[in-house]
Amino acid sequence: MSKIADFREDSRYGLQWFRPAWQKGELLKVKQLLRGQSFPTVDAATPAYLDEIKDVAPVIRVNGHTRPSVRIVRGASYSVESLVTDAKRSKDLKDSPQVSFVTLQRDDDLSALKFIDTFGPLFWPQKMLAVADWIHLDDFWARHARFLAISKLWRSLRDGEQAIQDAWKWIEENLTATRIAGEPDLGSDPTQTIGTGKRVNSIAVPMPWQANKQMLKVLPSLAMAEGRFNDEVVRISSSAMNRTLAIALIQHELTRQTESAKTLWRIEDGVKNLRCIPERRIESLWSAMWEIFAAEAGSGLSWRFCKACGKPFYPKRIDSDCCTTAEQSAWSKSNYAARWAQKGR
Ligand SMILES: [Zn+2]
Repeated sequence: MSKIADFREDSRYGLQWFRPAWQKGELLKVKQLLRGQSFPTVDAATPAYLDEIKDVAPVIRVNGHTRPSVRIVRGASYSVESLVTDAKRSKDLKDSPQVSFVTLQRDDDLSALKFIDTFGPLFWPQKMLAVADWIHLDDFWARHARFLAISKLWRSLRDGEQAIQDAWKWIEENLTATRIAGEPDLGSDPTQTIGTGKRVNSIAVPMPWQANKQMLKVLPSLAMAEGRFNDEVVRISSSAMNRTLAIALIQHELTRQTESAKTLWRIEDGVKNLRCIPERRIESLWSAMWEIFAAEAGSGLSWRFCKACGKPFYPKRIDSDCCTTAEQSAWSKSNYAARWAQKGR
């Protein structure tokens, strides 16, 4: 059944997530420390037991980390799915974690804090409720860059060749930022140990610039053998390659980042109408965002930015580019005129 991947139909992603709980005045203190960039540096983030944390700074810099770490305590839970459904209904997509994540001000720790305060951290690493969690903001921003890279690539696929090229350019320029400590690089498989104990980071999907370098060496000689000028060959090949590699990379990352999810089967007992319903059990907000990304795209109607006003919105139709009918018709007209003018040239 093709509808299984569409969470708005039968499938559900089950995730109860936790927002942080702050002591009186603590959130304000964290904001002040982040704004002033003044916090103690420590060698390691030792467990912060709840009954001992009163006198310890809630923001630290851990040696080896490039950004501060914030201490948070698990608070009230909420359903990620309900939140996304409500955000869609109210048309205010800033209330939806994955849209909010994509639109964060990059490398602004206060904006990361606002996200964490609203939706909870991407992970709650501690399983013990008596211990607070240290959230490392360098990990947060690396994951942000990773998600942004795939999100940009995905949205560019609708917008054609130039947009895809721009998305790849962003990825090339921000590749270092997408590295998550302890995890494989973008487009790579987990580190493998082969025979001699040598560790390799194997490439699953090459970046276009890696693929280009090898291909460019071969293409001119192929073209020359046929007596052609090689410029056109390189251009056409690289645009097709950009799209093919983009799709491969999106598929690779979606699969990797949702690996920890399990499918559970819920049985609805309607006596004669007995139904088995798949429910994806997800373990972190991080995985949930990838899961929602993929589930929504199952219908072809994933959220996008309005071409006229820039607001994120859910389209009613596959070919919608704008969030209102008025904007859509003005956009279609000007787009049609532009295409017509281009043809006339
Ligand atoms: Zn609009």
